[in-house]
Amino acid sequence: MRSVYTCLTQAHDHQLILLAAGICVVGVYGSFSVATHAARSEGRAATLWAGASIVASGCTAWATHMIGLLAFRPGMPAGFDPSLTALSLLVAIAGIGISVALAIGQRKRLHRFLIGLLLGGSIAALHYLGEASYVVAGTVVWDPVLVAVSVQASMVMFGVAMVVTGERRLDLRRAGAPLLVAAIGVLHFCGMTAMTLTFDPERELPLQAVPPEVIAPVVAGVSLGLLALAVIGMRLTLNARAQARRDQQRLRELANLAVEGLAVCDGEVIKTANRSLERLAVVEAGALAGRRLSELLPGLTVSALPEREEREAELVGADGQRVPVRVLRSEVPLGSKPQTVLAIRDQRERLQTESKMRALAYSDTLTDLPNRARFHDLLARHAATCGSDGRAFAVLVLDLDRFKLVNDTLGHGIGDALLRKTARRLTAALGPRDVVARLGGDEFAVLQVGTAGPEGVETLAARIIELVGRPFLIDGQLVTVGASVGAALAPTDGTEPGALLRNADLALYKAKADGKGTFRRFDPALDARVRARRSLEADLRRAIAVQEFELHYQPLVDARSGRITAAEALVRWRHPERGLVSPADFIPLAEETGLIGPLGQWVLRTACAQAVRWPSHIRVAVNLSPVQFRDLRLAETVKAALTASGLATKRLELEITEGVLLADEERTLATLTRLRAAGVGISMDDFGTGYSSLSYLRRFPFDTIKIDQSFVRQLPGDPESAAIVRAIITMGTCLGMTITVEGVETAEQFAFSAASGCDQVQGYHVSRPLPAADFLSFVEAREAA
Ligand code: C2E
Ligand code: CA
Ligand code: CA
Repeated sequence: MRSVYTCLTQAHDHQLILLAAGICVVGVYGSFSVATHAARSEGRAATLWAGASIVASGCTAWATHMIGLLAFRPGMPAGFDPSLTALSLLVAIAGIGISVALAIGQRKRLHRFLIGLLLGGSIAALHYLGEASYVVAGTVVWDPVLVAVSVQASMVMFGVAMVVTGERRLDLRRAGAPLLVAAIGVLHFCGMTAMTLTFDPERELPLQAVPPEVIAPVVAGVSLGLLALAVIGMRLTLNARAQARRDQQRLRELANLAVEGLAVCDGEVIKTANRSLERLAVVEAGALAGRRLSELLPGLTVSALPEREEREAELVGADGQRVPVRVLRSEVPLGSKPQTVLAIRDQRERLQTESKMRALAYSDTLTDLPNRARFHDLLARHAATCGSDGRAFAVLVLDLDRFKLVNDTLGHGIGDALLRKTARRLTAALGPRDVVARLGGDEFAVLQVGTAGPEGVETLAARIIELVGRPFLIDGQLVTVGASVGAALAPTDGTEPGALLRNADLALYKAKADGKGTFRRFDPALDARVRARRSLEADLRRAIAVQEFELHYQPLVDARSGRITAAEALVRWRHPERGLVSPADFIPLAEETGLIGPLGQWVLRTACAQAVRWPSHIRVAVNLSPVQFRDLRLAETVKAALTASGLATKRLELEITEGVLLADEERTLATLTRLRAAGVGISMDDFGTGYSSLSYLRRFPFDTIKIDQSFVRQLPGDPESAAIVRAIITMGTCLGMTITVEGVETAEQFAFSAASGCDQVQGYHVSRPLPAADFLSFVEAREAA
């Protein structure tokens, strides 16, 4: 050890030693900065810079070593063997180049250590080749122990240095460079000490030996080259730094434009944050840098966040407010190494939109009442709490009578306004804890909380019917509708929400069937009846689709001559199981369900088509339901049936009941007037059954009046009926109308009718309604008689 120290302090030129150290530092810096640049470059440039870096590293090692040798003062003439000197340079470059090439991307410590050994070996080779190239005018004796120690120690040090430079931890990596310098130092000074030179005046320097004065400028040239390279490397580094700064600035500007909050983190510490995040956290610009993330997002650990997978979290602002956010972590290559970037998205608006959407999905936008889904929900909750302690409550369902008519005739605007006003009236009718909802269309439902038994429900229903029944003033028009109400009382009529609603519905069905503006409570017997009716409805729909109907004709004869004047078309349903079904059993249902529309059209077309084949003086009468008058195209439908069949207009007669005139005023009258103007006959059917029959006769000029069967039934025995029939005949004749007496079953009834002055007679006494073919035979037989 002592000799190494003496070698260093006495045998060397100190200034040159310092120069060697300086060149070593400059060279290493130059090689490294160029290598870094190579790593940033691509393609050919990358290869060239990498090559330059390797050559520079080799030259650095060589030049350092050469200056070290030049600094050595052996005290005798010395020189350099040129080929060995050149070989040492080549070995340095090749050794470093191969080691670097092997080291790239090498993660395994053992491999790195082995590469370090290779590097150390080549540097040792450089060193001892260099020393071997040093020739003196004397003898050279080597200390094999020191040589072995220097080679082994430096190789191990190189190996360790190679291992630590590949480590993740920065403090470990930082130990790499001093270790390398120390290894080179050990190699050089041990190597120099191991060599003992003895001056021998007998000996001369070999001829090819190059004196130090010649080699020095070469070394100086190489050193200058390394200096130049270091300058280039510095420029490249500075450029790269400036570029990185510009990139970062641009990135920050870009980040500030981002709507979502962004934070670049170093572990759990925020390095920078954009404006959005600062605003979200309610802090000044730049105030987040250096803060721990856990202060901002309590309970969130960055390292535990999976990459590219959003997490819900709460951000605590400087004002203490908690903001719901979603956090996304990504590792982004910013600058030379990947950085942890957190994207933090404010969820307040989204959550608000969601809750608004939920509210929308749960409420009826027209009336602002809860909708069907919400009502089910409320009912289910109420049923669950009340069911356990047996408290009574009721479900009422209602719909508006004649709503469809208002909507069709006055327009949807008025219809909507009517629904809104109805909603307000319903709300006013309820108790403070009761709930009203709109189930859809003109259908509403009420949850009556804490019902005082059946009377309580009835009272509420009566109040609803009364309130909704009052006229509405909409757009300056008086609109009058009514309400039918059905109710089911829990727990008597069911406890389960679905069953309660269904039963209230059945009661409503019954209420409507029993006449508008009524209230019915659920009754188990109702269930079976309504079920049967529902199945009939489905059956009817199918029957219309497959046309299971046929028309029968009942003749009308002249009261005096007995000749057939007309025939009334009466529809029959030929049911595959039930046989021939009477219209009395399905017409009301068809009217209620709207199926009367297509059915009525079929009757019209068929009746006209069949009547064309009859003798031309026989007219055909077709019954029209009030519901058919809701169709604005009724007049067109009638005309189309006439045109299609070729039946003369005057041979068609339409029978309507006073219900037609009851429902609607102007529009019905307009339709009737148009039909009559076209030449179609209009009959008032079932005359005398209504309350204000006479006033209808004044409102529309009917062609025919048909006196209802109920009067005829009592004839001729009942004097009151006889008086009524006579009065109607007298009055009708005065108004210029044809009078038909229908339901004539006996010869007496026929005789009475004829004697009273009626024009036509219809009834079983003449003939029952007959299938089309039978009717034709009947006509032929009659005409022949
Ligand atoms: P309506 O218009 O009053 O038809 C007369 C009904 O009285 C027919 O019953 C007929 O068979 C029956 N009838 C005729 N003469 C006598 C009699 O001497 N004694 C008795 N007891 N009954 C007699 P039907 O065919 O069952 O029709 C019942 C109702 O169905 C009809 O009453 C009519 O309002 C309706 N209807 C029938 N066909 C149609 C149709 O195509 N369209 C529409 N909208 N309604 C129809
Ligand atoms: Ca009729
Ligand atoms: Ca009738």
